[in-house]
Amino acid sequence: MRRGDAALHRSKNDGEGRAYCFFTSTMDKQLKDQFQLEQALRRGLERDELLLHFQPRVDMATGQIQSLEALVRWLHPEQGLLPPHRFIPVAESSGLILSLGPLVLRKTCEQIQRWRAAGIPVVPVAINLTTQELYKQGLVTEVLGTVSQHDIDPALLEFEITESTAMRSIDDARAILSELKTAGFTLSLDDFGTGYASMSYLSNLPVHGLKIDQSFIAELERDPARCRQTMAIVDAMIGLGLNLGLEVVAEGVETPTQRDFLMAHRCTRGQGFLFSHPQPADVIGSLLQDGSPLPVAPDQTRP
Ligand code: C2E
Ligand code: MG
Ligand code: MG
Repeated sequence: MRRGDAALHRSKNDGEGRAYCFFTSTMDKQLKDQFQLEQALRRGLERDELLLHFQPRVDMATGQIQSLEALVRWLHPEQGLLPPHRFIPVAESSGLILSLGPLVLRKTCEQIQRWRAAGIPVVPVAINLTTQELYKQGLVTEVLGTVSQHDIDPALLEFEITESTAMRSIDDARAILSELKTAGFTLSLDDFGTGYASMSYLSNLPVHGLKIDQSFIAELERDPARCRQTMAIVDAMIGLGLNLGLEVVAEGVETPTQRDFLMAHRCTRGQGFLFSHPQPADVIGSLLQDGSPLPVAPDQTRP
């Protein structure tokens, strides 16, 4: 029975269209690991082990910080600081994401308040929303409640969703995003170019910006065989975004060559290790306080 359950669980998790699958012993081990991780994450949420790092998005011409992206980390009691790919999938499959999402929003608001109280000039902060979070009943009311509780201007918050999240239920997505936009929040499409989105639907989405996925930026340099194609694709994505009146941000900019290519093709905003890794709030606070542009040469001493 237990093995049957494991196979059923896998077949459901593998998405629609998969009618059945057979039990294998690795499936059993994976399920056990996943269950343990889920329990640990539940405890981690209760014990407030989750924290935020922030990564600047800069004007690539000047190095000036334009905005930040909040990126969640889990300070696991035994394993140390865990990146999101180690626990976001289990948070999604277990439904814990519906506790994690509001926590990230609350911590972001609290951090903005702390920076503000310290007299630090605050810039807008972007938060990632998964599919479950976007389509959750009452999301807009909940978000508005949190921001007003912390006395935060919605213009200081941005929500990032992926194309696949938007395409999951395009009419609902349009309605929810419109509500968020009307409330004054900024919206952008994350990991642009990796989903299967219809251009006509995308052009109708009430978003302010798109973020070119870092896989394209990496290929600009790492894969000479595909470089020309990638250059053409990146150029087309920038053109599409700008012609639709959107702000285009390049993700994962690691080298001056990538930055120069992007700037020569009219993309002026970038986020990546070339400018800054995601950093704890106090480090980012000092950068904002200082106000000077970020150096564009990578600092090898950073993590
Ligand atoms: P994302 O939203 O696309 O975030 C960008 C990711 O790229 C971050 O990874 C960031 O550290 C990484 N990155 C930035 N610049 C560079 C670069 O120059 N080179 C390389 N190789 N990587 C770079 P991170 O922090 O591990 O986050 C991974 C993903 O986890 C995020 O992708 C996002 O989808 C998800 N995530 C992070 N925080 C949250 C959160 O609070 N809520 C939700 N729902 N998802 C989150
Ligand atoms: Mg993002
Ligand atoms: Mg991204």
